[in-house]
Amino acid sequence: MRKPIVAGNWKMNKNIAEAIDLVEAIKCDLAQTREVEVVVCPPFTALKACSDAISDTEIRLGAQNMHWEKNGAYTGEISAEMLRELFCHYVIVGHSERREYFKETDEIVNRKAKAALAANLRPIVCVGETLEQRESGQTEEVVTSQVKGSLADIGAESMKSLIIAYEPVWAIGTGKTATPEQAQEVHALIRKVLAKMLNQDVADGVRIQYGGSMKPSNAAELLSKPDIDGGLIGGAALEASSFVDIVRAAKEVVEA
Ligand code: PEP
Repeated sequence: MRKPIVAGNWKMNKNIAEAIDLVEAIKCDLAQTREVEVVVCPPFTALKACSDAISDTEIRLGAQNMHWEKNGAYTGEISAEMLRELFCHYVIVGHSERREYFKETDEIVNRKAKAALAANLRPIVCVGETLEQRESGQTEEVVTSQVKGSLADIGAESMKSLIIAYEPVWAIGTGKTATPEQAQEVHALIRKVLAKMLNQDVADGVRIQYGGSMKPSNAAELLSKPDIDGGLIGGAALEASSFVDIVRAAKEVVEA
């Protein structure tokens, strides 16, 4: 059984006071949730405050990005070790916004994922096709190539610590969600690619989140698909009530 993982990607939102308010509100309902792994990914500036706020809970902390080097002349960057120092357990790498606005390639995502794993930080590796790619029938090819490139040379043992997020770019922040069937199809494809890259055991064990306008009204249906193991939530993670409701939906699926 794969334990579902629901992570909130707050992006470049929330100042420190707002972040504390949000995490405290989430804590009220989810502090001791164990059936679902709950992760919050605030901006860098609020990591320390959120880390302190959740230190006595089951909620885990994640960052939204990192650099692949340990230290050095990389102005403006943050390393995996620095994130570990703040008690981060997770880091999102290769989000489509970073791929698009900061020109991150699969090779860069791969370096980041490996550096995270080496520092004992679990990468949430994002993949997903654009609308143009879906409409021209390239989804399978694009996602397969992103999975192969972003996860190249990551061994079976390390893969156990890694999460994949399938996020169709056309569904991120647009209010358009992939149908549960569309999402399931790609999640199953990703598992098939992993089985070929490594082995069936690894493919069966890796958790694959869906991301793209997931909200309380569509979460249960998406999460009840066999290969969907949680969600990476953007907009709906900025309100405690909607984030908590998505986690509840995941919990109900586990308990059903
Ligand atoms: C995201 O950015 O990872 C995301 C899924 O955003 P949203 O939920 O707002 O579509």
